[in-house]
Amino acid sequence: MGPVQASSQRRGAASGFAAPALILGVAAALILLERRRPLRRAREDPDRRDLRNLAIAAAAGATVRLVEQSIVEPLAALAERRRWGLLNRMRLPRWARLGLGLALMDYTLYAWHVLTHRVPLLWRFHQVHHADLDLSATTALRFHFGELALSVPWRALQVLLIGVTPRELRLWQRATLISILFHHSNLRLPSAFERWLARAVVTPRMHGIHHSVAAAEMNSNWSSGLSLWDRLHGTLRLGVPQRAITIGVPGYRDPRRLSLTHALALPFRPPAAAHQSSVGRD
Ligand SMILES: [Zn+2]
Repeated sequence: MGPVQASSQRRGAASGFAAPALILGVAAALILLERRRPLRRAREDPDRRDLRNLAIAAAAGATVRLVEQSIVEPLAALAERRRWGLLNRMRLPRWARLGLGLALMDYTLYAWHVLTHRVPLLWRFHQVHHADLDLSATTALRFHFGELALSVPWRALQVLLIGVTPRELRLWQRATLISILFHHSNLRLPSAFERWLARAVVTPRMHGIHHSVAAAEMNSNWSSGLSLWDRLHGTLRLGVPQRAITIGVPGYRDPRRLSLTHALALPFRPPAAAHQSSVGRD
């Protein structure tokens, strides 16, 4: 092995360790800070909720590792070798390629998020994420493993059409994870600062509105990274006071239905009558 290969391998090993450490650090900091400076009053015991969300997240994480990564990363490498996808066809400077790739992945995630609410089968799984009665950093990880498995074909399409490399894909996944940890958190930021931040990215107050039981509020703020996509589509909604928001899914607010087993079984149960009337209304 030559010195260049050795040093690039060391760099690879270092960044391979640095990224999970950064994500864990951000998650730990948010969990600590949101308990010190809460934005919304908790309806459930935070320790119980966080533990339940982490258990749901463990199955979700295993699905991403076993299913998504083993299919989507090799597809990104194949697209790079065969020059498939928009970015692999264009001759762009590296920084422009990276910026455009991250933006297009973020935009197509916006579209996927809309689909998870509009397509009844996808909503069955996505509602597990929305059925949390409070929002906190752990809600960002509370996705049913079925939703993540169902998202693999979409992710494969994103990668093949946009043409991101495996490295760009990993960077986007990490940046998105940090973003969703942040905007699901219950951290009270100074409102002027948050208004300024929301011009560029999704913030906790902005995403809190999307988790409302009110259909008009839930059908807004679909973005996961840049707030630009909601601005472009006229789906941005700000200025709803957080104390006026009831978080959750209509029809699934019974405290006896909040357990881990109920959450995991939710997609396979008949839809609740109250919820039916809230879907498909803007
Ligand atoms: Zn949603």
